[in-house]
Amino acid sequence: MKRKIIHVDMDAFFASIEQHDNPEYKGKPVIVGGLSGRGVVSTCSYEARKYGIHSAMPMYMAKKLCPHGIFLSVRRKRYEEVSAQIFDILYNITSMVEPVSIDEAYLDVTDIDKNPEIIALEIKNKVKETTGLTISVGISYNKFLAKLASDWNKPDGLMAITENMVPDILKPLPVSKVHGIGEKSAERLKSMGINTIEDLLKLSQENLIEIFGKVGVEIYNRIRGIDERPVETMREIKSIGKEKTLEKDTKDKRILLHYAKLFSDIISEELTKERFYARTVTVKIKTSDFAVHTKSKTLDKYMRLSEDIYEVAKEIIENWKIEQYVRLIGLSVSNLSPIKYEQLSFLDKNVVKAIKAENVAIEINKKVGRKIVKKASELLKEDTMQRRD
Ligand SMILES: [Mg+2]
Repeated sequence: MKRKIIHVDMDAFFASIEQHDNPEYKGKPVIVGGLSGRGVVSTCSYEARKYGIHSAMPMYMAKKLCPHGIFLSVRRKRYEEVSAQIFDILYNITSMVEPVSIDEAYLDVTDIDKNPEIIALEIKNKVKETTGLTISVGISYNKFLAKLASDWNKPDGLMAITENMVPDILKPLPVSKVHGIGEKSAERLKSMGINTIEDLLKLSQENLIEIFGKVGVEIYNRIRGIDERPVETMREIKSIGKEKTLEKDTKDKRILLHYAKLFSDIISEELTKERFYARTVTVKIKTSDFAVHTKSKTLDKYMRLSEDIYEVAKEIIENWKIEQYVRLIGLSVSNLSPIKYEQLSFLDKNVVKAIKAENVAIEINKKVGRKIVKKASELLKEDTMQRRD
């Protein structure tokens, strides 16, 4: 049986809240983000988009494009408050909710004996009534298509993609619309003369594997309307991290090590709080040309102490031949486990399961998406809060 999946996404979330809370900003270009010298745009209103401003753009560039715009810093607490109201509405419909971000989620409504378009309208009305804001809703039979549908006629959109519309409706879309094809891959495809999904459909699965590696299979299926990814209601913490855009681009490793030390402390605290141990340490740098590079190291043992994490980070940074100036440094840990590896071997598998379940339960108790999805991005400061449309 085909599933019924709904994807919901608030429209220009942060900027819309600011316009709602400050009616004098309505109809004006509002830009929310890091206001310090090197901050970036988190969200901007649709009026601001007309000037070419978009999320993740450096703030100074946005100011150049729209000098008379209303520039505001991020009021995270307020946005989380509104987010909680929205997730309450979603959880009232079903417990099959997968939070994706502060303002975005998937719902599996297969088991609800109601037309999904009616459910979608209920969500839209309720969100409007409760928060005064608009939400875009997409309906389809898998996650990829539902997300595509919610993006179809933003803002305040409502769109359903049914089986008989696929693949025709997808054909004219640019390849960047396919989940799994990032900016870089899209550029590469473009240089090969592949611009639309229609072009992509002409390639064999082998071709796609050559281009994308393993993901090629998923991409091959996705553009044919096949995406079996379930709506994951309980998401375990996958990684914990912290990053910082530097005041000034640097090649000085001492500065990078200084931040690695600082982040190790924060990550260690977070691991303790969440009762996790980690086995993999990843250092991320963004160079002055905005290219992102990461290097990871996975150990045999699990760690939680700041010194242990720093030790690995230090090794990575010291051995890294960094050619360009660095503009952002980040550190994260992943491969998380609720118990130490040494203990693990002594325990029965069921016990391990129980401990894992307990951790999941703690997460659920925190209830709303912003808590459940405690990924690296969660712990970041305003200047790295990006791409919240
Ligand atoms: Mg959004």
